[in-house]
Amino acid sequence: MLKPPSNPIPILTYHQIAPPAPKGAPYRSLCVAPADFARHMGMLALLGYQGLSMSALMPYLRGERQGKVVGITFDDGYLNNLEHALPVLARHGFSSTCYAVSQLLGQSNVWDHHKGIAAAPLMTAAQLRQWVAAGQEVGAHTRHHVHLNALDEATCRQEIALCKTELELACGAPVNHFCYPYGEFAQPHVALVQEAQFHTATTTHRGRSTGGDSLWALPRVPVLRSTTRPVLWAKVATAYEDRRRD
Ligand SMILES: [Zn+2]
Repeated sequence: MLKPPSNPIPILTYHQIAPPAPKGAPYRSLCVAPADFARHMGMLALLGYQGLSMSALMPYLRGERQGKVVGITFDDGYLNNLEHALPVLARHGFSSTCYAVSQLLGQSNVWDHHKGIAAAPLMTAAQLRQWVAAGQEVGAHTRHHVHLNALDEATCRQEIALCKTELELACGAPVNHFCYPYGEFAQPHVALVQEAQFHTATTTHRGRSTGGDSLWALPRVPVLRSTTRPVLWAKVATAYEDRRRD
């Protein structure tokens, strides 16, 4: 029998690691400046935390190993993760999981354009292979960054299962972890993610992961442009985020 982790495990959610968009730009909070990202990782390392990809985090989530660990995830597959996050992760010996959108490789965050969010390039297949070759992991975020709640089951199955196959071909590595776009999911989507043989799925529910969480509906800890080091520490090491659970 698995025993649940005795310490809550934070799984951090980052999006873009890039200089912030001009003041007033929509959703600029989702861009963490490269220098701030370096400070975040530096602080975690100094505190003795190991930053881990979802695969590396699995034994901890399953209660098989104990330790000071933090999951690091990036949503959407931005090229600026490769440019600005990878050197920092490598410096600390950290791994992470970047959730990519398989039909939009080398394109941009087209799903955001109607909200007035500036286009930002997404990694190509070759760049995803660079990411993997450097010790990082690729996860799946559907084929087209869809609203799963708005689609019929057959389309959801394609978006979830084919995304895995397409990304495995693109990056030449197993893709075993899924992230629900927009944090939208319901029980049928959980079943489809399990059917597609994903080992975990992350959500936008806030909180650190505890033994009570399904591996296919894991809460995460958002990290924003405005997240200072003291706040990041509180999110990781205290019940600060857990109180925000829904
Ligand atoms: Zn996304």
